[in-house]
Amino acid sequence: MKKRDYYEVLGTDKNADVNTIKQAYRKLAMQYHPDRNPGDKQAGKQMAEINEAYAVLCDQDKRRRYDMYGHAGLEGYSSDDLFHGVDFSSVFRDFGMGDFGFGGSIFDSFFSTGEARTRGPRRGADLMYTLKVSLEEVATGIEKEIEIPITRTCPSCQGTGAEKGGTKDCDRCRGTGKIITERRSGYGVFRQINVCSKCGGKGKIVEKPCKKCHGRGIVEENDIISVSIPGGADTGYKVRVKGKGEEGDEGAPPGDLYIVLEVEEHPIFERHGDDIYMVKEIGCYQAALGGEVNVPGIEGDLKLDIPEGTQNGAVLPIINKGLPHMDSHSRGNQYVMVKVTTPQNLTRRERELFQELEKLQSKEKKH
Ligand SMILES: [Zn+2]
Ligand SMILES: [Zn+2]
Repeated sequence: MKKRDYYEVLGTDKNADVNTIKQAYRKLAMQYHPDRNPGDKQAGKQMAEINEAYAVLCDQDKRRRYDMYGHAGLEGYSSDDLFHGVDFSSVFRDFGMGDFGFGGSIFDSFFSTGEARTRGPRRGADLMYTLKVSLEEVATGIEKEIEIPITRTCPSCQGTGAEKGGTKDCDRCRGTGKIITERRSGYGVFRQINVCSKCGGKGKIVEKPCKKCHGRGIVEENDIISVSIPGGADTGYKVRVKGKGEEGDEGAPPGDLYIVLEVEEHPIFERHGDDIYMVKEIGCYQAALGGEVNVPGIEGDLKLDIPEGTQNGAVLPIINKGLPHMDSHSRGNQYVMVKVTTPQNLTRRERELFQELEKLQSKEKKH
């Protein structure tokens, strides 16, 4: 395919100045941009041709070579070289196109082929707070006030990190916060938008840092949050407090705070779901004779009936003295495992009595 003359492509005179070339390019780009001609391959090819003509004619050095030798003068240039340093977006910026009713997004939609888009404003991160509670506390349910360190936008500088009037526009990104690089490859123009490394995307450089936040733009405060823990809640139970996470980017909502329950181990009780287990030591006499004993309960002491002839390791239930079910009015049980202790260091009299008992037992077995 024979290459068309660049001036012809842009429809300008060979003596046209840079502004005229820009103007011509802008007009054609608006007309042939693939986004405005969806599915029209011809428009895509034309756009590529227009881009190339502009890249050459807006650059003093390349234009001189072209004027002297025609297309042959640029044969040594790769497609990347040809487009190197060409600021396409300035064409539109110079004409105030950024505010042409498209907002700032006109460039984003303009060079859409293979474009790497920047992300939108990010929502703040969620925070997690571990709340330790005792088994007694979850047995009844509890309201707790907790103090959470929260980072907030500095109220003194509104997050700019600077004293009033203490900022200037970033010189690297000209206050936009973005560095845009464009690269042509095949028919597409690859447009990459990176966050400006000098100002971190803020577009502003701080000259006089804010005294309250020392230029960080955020302050740490303690927030008092009251949490309601229902009876029967277990380790891992989560309460979501909306909007109390980290602050988001400007225009994005904050994250949420998750309060995660951790029920502490209890010195006496072991929890299994809504049931609680404990061990109670009793003497061998009590085990043999039976009787009532006191055992600790989660909400105060309880009486436990030891049946006659209770064996070591027997598990005795106390109904409805466990933890409440979270979603109903019923409760779990308390289970008491009996550990029968054998008396040691017997006195002479005790020894005689045991021996007597032993004789009685063996006689009974013979009958
Ligand atoms: Zn501040
Ligand atoms: Zn910058």
